[in-house]
Amino acid sequence: MTDQFGNNVHFINGFRCKGAVTCNEDGSYDIFIRADLSHEEKVRVYLHELSHIMNDDFSKTDVQSVEYEAHKRDKGGGLEDLSTHVD
Ligand SMILES: [Zn+2]
Repeated sequence: MTDQFGNNVHFINGFRCKGAVTCNEDGSYDIFIRADLSHEEKVRVYLHELSHIMNDDFSKTDVQSVEYEAHKRDKGGGLEDLSTHVD
């Protein structure tokens, strides 16, 4: 599916982390969300991955500090294990 921002959203069975986002060469983004999460958790993961796009995190090189800032923005926090997050 495609969200209202034109991002491609994929629900993946057996995904090892809750969510991930990749930047494509054409400037579009793919958001991956584990399919077996609850609806509420899918929404939280989606919003978290969206925050990476909105904050232009792909232009930054320090992944650990990017994740730290991203999770500080998340009210609930702790959506992903930093070591398994795939950006
Ligand atoms: Zn993240």
